[in-house]
Amino acid sequence: MMLYGIEATSLGMYQAEQLCCSKCGGVNSVKMKVFAKYFHVSRIPSFPLGKIGVAVCQNCNHSVDNQGFSHLQQYQLAFRQIEKKTTIPYWSCAGIGLLLMLMSLVGYSLAGI
Ligand SMILES: [Zn+2]
Repeated sequence: MMLYGIEATSLGMYQAEQLCCSKCGGVNSVKMKVFAKYFHVSRIPSFPLGKIGVAVCQNCNHSVDNQGFSHLQQYQLAFRQIEKKTTIPYWSCAGIGLLLMLMSLVGYSLAGI
């Protein structure tokens, strides 16, 4: 079991408007799934690392991941528009909140001595 690492959670699947599939050329056939990446410590989400996406054509099942967007400007622009519709979940900062609570409890107990 990994004590720390990077995980991702789905933020939803969205239709990419005015985007043609890079393989079959299908218009409006591409859907993009957006994920929020976060760093975890002992499976507790600690802080967000941004968003990534995967585009899948509904006609030919051709998929392009986040790294592939850099080579396809049309996909990159569509992802930026879709990315704005999503928000990073507040719980992806839970580890930082727990750490701050522990630090304040320790500080409070030390000040009480
Ligand atoms: Zn296609």
